[in-house]
Amino acid sequence: MPTAEIITIGTELLLGEIQDTNTRYLARALRDLGIDLYRTTTIGDNEERIARVIEEALGRCQIIITTGGLGPTVDDPTRQAVARALGVPLEFRNDLWEQISNRILTRYGRQPSTNNMRQAWIPAGSIPIPNPVGTAPAFIGERGDACVISLPGVPREMEYLYQNAVVPYLKQRYHLTGVIKARVLHTAGVGESQIDEWIGDLETLSNPTVGLLAHPGQCDIRITAKANSQEEADQMIAELEATIRQRCGDSIYGTDNETLEDVVFQKLARQGWKLAVFESGLNGALRERLQSHGMPPEWIAVAESPYMPKDLETILRDLSHRLKAEVVLGVCLIPEEDKQSLTLLVLSPSGMLENQRSYGGPPQLAASWAIHSALDFLRRNLPTPLEEN
Ligand code: ATP
Repeated sequence: MPTAEIITIGTELLLGEIQDTNTRYLARALRDLGIDLYRTTTIGDNEERIARVIEEALGRCQIIITTGGLGPTVDDPTRQAVARALGVPLEFRNDLWEQISNRILTRYGRQPSTNNMRQAWIPAGSIPIPNPVGTAPAFIGERGDACVISLPGVPREMEYLYQNAVVPYLKQRYHLTGVIKARVLHTAGVGESQIDEWIGDLETLSNPTVGLLAHPGQCDIRITAKANSQEEADQMIAELEATIRQRCGDSIYGTDNETLEDVVFQKLARQGWKLAVFESGLNGALRERLQSHGMPPEWIAVAESPYMPKDLETILRDLSHRLKAEVVLGVCLIPEEDKQSLTLLVLSPSGMLENQRSYGGPPQLAASWAIHSALDFLRRNLPTPLEEN
């Protein structure tokens, strides 16, 4: 299995002025092809430093993908840097020049400038990748069993060329048949250490692998399988997922892109119930979360000053009555000396349920923790579709 490195080029990236989304895209795309990614690097627009980073990467892996620095100006140094790293001169490619000139003429109705000519120079002997969605052509330089693939920085162009030119090239050159697939199981209401206790033995497996990622009030379990086909990977994941589900039970609320809000709203919709919410001590953070899920803002009351949990039941009953909501959730977060205490109250056709918890983690994460705890408490206490049958 070949190994890869990604090098994103651009001083704006290095200075944090733009976010490096190309690395994330390529990292996932390489994983889907079954290629192991060893390292990612971000580097400014400096020819000598870029050349050095590429040379070093050539000593470690077979596939190096660079993005950015292919524009027509002098501070677009990728072409020269790759030529330097491969130890070859640049060569002018008439076919690329024709393609660049035509695109500028048809798209912008002007003659190409002499600056644009720079983009038709690529490292001698490399394979040009014409760019039908932009002006910067890409290329692939080869050395032994390794290759340096240089793509434009603009994400839309980069993604297009990656899918349409790079994937077929990599599959053919490295005889790739393997895939890496991942599935994430989301848990809530239990800590990372509890999950670790349940499935710690599975975290030492080598294929599929199991990893944990903790968030405030939630913990993700990621299963990753390497296999020869999608079907084989799916099968490996399904077997391990069944074991994990057996051990973690209803602490698992969803998979992949599913959120706690999705699960709560699905359960409410199945019953045909409306939800009203009262929050205190969260500065409207719960309202923001629920509103972005399409909940009307007038269904979410936010206390102007911290509310005492003892009044909570009266407030919820008023809210339920006024809005004719079958389910009402009350969430009060109160800071204490060295912790925050959370009171949750749910009124529903199944009755009233109250829960008290305390939080001692970083204060800036307390609101997220409270929101996840509240939504998890709610989803656990709403009937599931199975109970309906
Ligand atoms: P062009 O000829 O279109 O300028 P280029 O290959 O020279 O292409 P850059 O000039 O390096 O690309 O980047 C162009 C723009 O693409 C940047 O201003 C930025 O908006 C975006 N971009 C570049 N690199 C990245 C990256 N790693 N992640 C996200 N966006 C990026």
